[in-house]
Amino acid sequence: MTTRRKAILARVRAACERVGRDESDVSIVAVSKTVDVAAVRAAMDAGYRRFGENRPQELARKLEALAADGGEVPPFDLIGNLQRNKVNLVLGKAQLIQSVSSLALAEAVSSRAEARGIVQPVLFEVNVSGEATKGGFAPLELEQAAERLVELPGIEPRGLMTMAPAHAPDLARQTFKGLRELRATLIDQCGLQVPELSCGMSDDFTIAIEEGSTIVRLGRVVFDQGYELAGD
Ligand SMILES: *Cc1c(COP(=O)(O)O)cnc(C)c1O
Repeated sequence: MTTRRKAILARVRAACERVGRDESDVSIVAVSKTVDVAAVRAAMDAGYRRFGENRPQELARKLEALAADGGEVPPFDLIGNLQRNKVNLVLGKAQLIQSVSSLALAEAVSSRAEARGIVQPVLFEVNVSGEATKGGFAPLELEQAAERLVELPGIEPRGLMTMAPAHAPDLARQTFKGLRELRATLIDQCGLQVPELSCGMSDDFTIAIEEGSTIVRLGRVVFDQGYELAGD
């Protein structure tokens, strides 16, 4: 895992250099949804410091298991679909809820956080590519919701998240670029401060970094030693 991590970091650095970015502006979330706690510990030993889970129950379970074995408990982001009746499972436990995908969900997270006296950091998930199978705000819908989102006391908006179409590098690049352009509109015209861009997975993280990603979510390339990393 350490050798693989070096190869990943070299690609992050090279992608940053190609577009004049600072590699310290890109954070890696190791997506542990398919692996057990022992593999999370191994990833920590290899140097990963931030993890992601796509299911609320599994995020809560991993945090408990990591706490139970007495070692360090790393921060976990929720990156997958969140139903309103599952908000309490992850509220205040997820370092960042990346998948706030509608105004109704944002309101639910905010009101529950307010009731608990906390402020939950979140990203807004955007369906930039417009695929029917993908969740998230439509870009225009997010612009229209911005005024209301700014006012919600229980959430702290940090940025935007998207998923690109698979196996289509050109479409992926367009999707990431669209996310960056939406960020500019939201900050300049809507007063919604959303600096972080969470985009890029195992197959497309170098493209995402070239287009401005600040958080890449890497599953297979980190945990699957059989995964073929492009350029190897
Ligand atoms: C699984 C998952 C990832 C990681 O995907 P890989 O292709 O394995 O890197 C990233 N983001 C989300 C939302 C996921 O569910």
